[in-house]
Amino acid sequence: MAHRAGISLGSNLGNRLANLRKGRDLLVNLLPEGTNFLQSAIYQSEPVDCPGDSRDFFNAVIEIDFVGKPHDLLKATQGIEYHVGRIAVSQRNAPRVLDLDILYFGNIKTDEDILTLPHPQLTHRRFVLEPLSDIRPQLILPGDQSTVEEHLRKLDSDEPELTIVQTVW
Ligand code: AMP
Repeated sequence: MAHRAGISLGSNLGNRLANLRKGRDLLVNLLPEGTNFLQSAIYQSEPVDCPGDSRDFFNAVIEIDFVGKPHDLLKATQGIEYHVGRIAVSQRNAPRVLDLDILYFGNIKTDEDILTLPHPQLTHRRFVLEPLSDIRPQLILPGDQSTVEEHLRKLDSDEPELTIVQTVW
């Protein structure tokens, strides 16, 4: 059975637009035949909690159909991160070519270090909520009561506004 899975994409190293496109194309390759995917616009955001010399991020969210278990998708997203060029670095939140986070996986909830679903930071980050609200404003996450759009409206965050880089990509 296929689950709808939301994935956030971020890049702040190298050709950020090309990195997001490569990540998107490889994720879309996972789609079962005949299914569709949704993609947000690309937004630009200032780095949160990153080393001082970090560039701005390009961020987007896509939703795909995925056949398999959540851990299979995690293996796939980690494979794509490394394929597109993420270098293993020990510094926390160091600049990265491509970062993929699984935001939700159908109605599944997990609470493991290796995979927490829905993603625990989802409702606190403008750079996730804003693109997600492009494609799934009415989504209510498992265990939650508010829609994505409501979370975005309520967001009490010091993060500056995001700017749209491009809507078609
Ligand atoms: P990061 O460096 O921010 O990409 O964090 C990656 C680590 O977070 C990996 O070790 C993952 O196993 C773990 N992780 C936990 N929950 C998730 C999730 N929902 N999506 C992606 N990675 C996750």
